[in-house]
Amino acid sequence: MRATRAVIRLGNLRHNIQVMHQHMKSQLGGEAPQICVAVKADAYGHGVVRCAETALEAGASALGVAAVSEGAALRDAGIRAPVLLYGIARKGELADIAELTLSPFVADDAYIRLVDEAAASAGVKLDVHLKIDTGMGRIGCRPEDAVQLAGQIQHSKRLRLAGTATHFPVADEDNSTFTREQIDLFLNTVKRIREAGINPGLVHAANSGAIIGYPTVWADMVRPGISVYGYYPSADQKRTLELLPVMELVSEIVFVKRVAPGTPISYGCSYRTPEETVIATVPAGYGDGYNRLLSNTGRVLIDGKTYPLVGRVCMDQFMVDIGANPECGVGSTVTLFGPDPSGPNAEELAELCTTIPYEVLTGITARVPRIYLD
Ligand SMILES: *Cc1c(COP(=O)(O)O)cnc(C)c1O
Repeated sequence: MRATRAVIRLGNLRHNIQVMHQHMKSQLGGEAPQICVAVKADAYGHGVVRCAETALEAGASALGVAAVSEGAALRDAGIRAPVLLYGIARKGELADIAELTLSPFVADDAYIRLVDEAAASAGVKLDVHLKIDTGMGRIGCRPEDAVQLAGQIQHSKRLRLAGTATHFPVADEDNSTFTREQIDLFLNTVKRIREAGINPGLVHAANSGAIIGYPTVWADMVRPGISVYGYYPSADQKRTLELLPVMELVSEIVFVKRVAPGTPISYGCSYRTPEETVIATVPAGYGDGYNRLLSNTGRVLIDGKTYPLVGRVCMDQFMVDIGANPECGVGSTVTLFGPDPSGPNAEELAELCTTIPYEVLTGITARVPRIYLD
């Protein structure tokens, strides 16, 4: 196997779900809401099937995907739990939704009719979730149309209104007025659906940000993603849960060389060694999803010590200055990011690349094998 691999600690994934469950239970002083874990984008880069199975074992009751193909991967693996389709499918994919019994988000009358027809053609009954846009500006009906659409679903013989949902764009900010107004609008809309004599099904809204910061909208079910994989949605949010990163991206030193002062390192010769030192080559690069913006700024963990990345990150390799009297060498394990607090994590890499941990994790490419530890 190639030196570069992503070690996936399923125990940490389980821990994160349990910590979240306990947190909600203790705050509510009773029953905690159900948990629907987002496993879209190959479980945020961690591998969809193993993560989905582990999440269900740890107490999650449903899974969230963005694409029909992701739902198909779960069904192919024999997973029978409800799978919510967070994205809108094309017309040509609706027969697959019915075949796979996925539970799509719906948000307008034309799409509800199409899903209804697909369910009828397949001879199945489908759960759908009405998605209300309360401020995300993405998929979702206008709140004033929600009661009518809920009625349309209720009147269909083939569809069941299994849930009513919304989504938050700034719940990763503590005490956001915008989020509090969204919560009011959402809960009022749900109330109007109930007053019209319609059962809204499971009421759900909270992403990781709202699970951490907005208990008033936990409702019947929550929809975490990033927190299950061990990260906070934002660097600014209060650290109220003990989350453990699930992925450790590791590699190995495959080559070392002693070099003179002034030696240029990597493409563009953007780095020159200030003094005599030993340069180690690590066989990982942006072709593995290790961002090129880490050139000359990143650091790695080797045997409990961190070392600077020098020169540009190449497609398949990068270089590390391990010093004139190195304690490591060919064969030493190199951690690019992971749960060890003495080394970099995906949040640190995200900051260096002016992005978010979500993109660091989902960016690890298919070339990197996922190795599961239970
Ligand atoms: C991805 C997603 C989530 C999970 O969001 P996190 O910020 O990762 O917790 C929840 N709901 C919907 C609709 C999503 O698309």
